[in-house]
Amino acid sequence: MQHALDIEGEKIKPTYSGQIAFCAFCKEKVIGKCGKIYIWHWQHAHNANCDLWKEAETEWHRSWKNKFPSEWQEKIIKKNNEKHIADIFTDNGIVIEFQNSMISSSTIAEREMFYEKMIWVINAQTFKNNLITENKSDKHLAEIDYRYSVQRTSLQQYNSIELQNIKRKSKSLSSEIQNRENDLSLLKSLTDIFSFDNKNAETFVERIIKIWESENLFVEPSLVDITNDAALISKKPFFKLLGELKRNKYFLSVAIENSVEIEQLYKERADLEADLDNLKPALKEELKFVASQFLKREDEITQLSRVIAFFKSESEENDKELQQLKGSIDNYITTNLKILEANFDEERNKIIKDKDKLTLSWKHERKSWASAGAPIFFDIGDDTLLYKYPDNKVCVVKVIDFLHKYSKNDNKY
Ligand SMILES: [Zn+2]
Repeated sequence: MQHALDIEGEKIKPTYSGQIAFCAFCKEKVIGKCGKIYIWHWQHAHNANCDLWKEAETEWHRSWKNKFPSEWQEKIIKKNNEKHIADIFTDNGIVIEFQNSMISSSTIAEREMFYEKMIWVINAQTFKNNLITENKSDKHLAEIDYRYSVQRTSLQQYNSIELQNIKRKSKSLSSEIQNRENDLSLLKSLTDIFSFDNKNAETFVERIIKIWESENLFVEPSLVDITNDAALISKKPFFKLLGELKRNKYFLSVAIENSVEIEQLYKERADLEADLDNLKPALKEELKFVASQFLKREDEITQLSRVIAFFKSESEENDKELQQLKGSIDNYITTNLKILEANFDEERNKIIKDKDKLTLSWKHERKSWASAGAPIFFDIGDDTLLYKYPDNKVCVVKVIDFLHKYSKNDNKY
């Protein structure tokens, strides 16, 4: 200690070696030590029963205490029939304890309870290699950048499988519709040649017979295949009879009136017409058969049209579902992206705010200090302290700034 009481009870510092004074705490005799190496101090004459909380004083203790005003040093604090010497007691009533050796967490708790408003300065010069400090903020920023980019991507791809399924269905439906529409137009081209006859076989047959029986034998090119169909067995004899009738007409037109020849020709004509009339039903049946081969496709057309209508309604439903799903997915993504970005900003800002803080890790943790409630400063030498935040982050504090803070009427730590 650097302070003792003289005979008059005045607080004094030693001025020469061997000087006698009395301990302010235990009233025992103390002797001045004023050498060339150590800071001048008092030492108990005998192994006194002084403040048991005080460890053997070192130069480290003395030099720290000397950084503060003399009247703040070695202040005896009495409370509930208990008293202890506080290393420093500031104007603001804060006790600063300089701790050189290891102490247990129960001792830490006991002293924090007694002093109440206090801070610890721990001599870490001997174990500073045990403290690893690193600035992890860049690493943390990169980590959250990566983590959020992964989350963003997975969110943007949210539910795309379901969406893809619907899109795939939509595509296959339109190709189904397209195929059937192609079939339909092919079928329609087969029956459309009967449009003139309202796609009625009887009407068609009557029309063709009428054409054949007329002077003008022109048949539309689209019908040529039908009217030349091999199934029309009666067509050849029918045309032969038509030819004979034409010839008969010609002979009749040039024959002399009331001749035997005319009579003959009239008879022949009546026979030819009768033959034609006899042949007509068979020819009509044959024509009807050929036309029906085409016209029976009408049923297929109806059926196919029904299938197409069904697919179209299904496709409409599917499109509706697609739009709905797209809407809800967009909504979900937008909402969650907003939340994600807000979280990202918050996390990022937190790191940026603490970016000058260092992360403290111990090679071999001195667990007792983890339980301390009061602020802790590790003295790591070179006029530098590490201030430990509750989250195990630390920041570098220059001793001069530390003194400035605690010698003034404010304290931010
Ligand atoms: Zn004493």
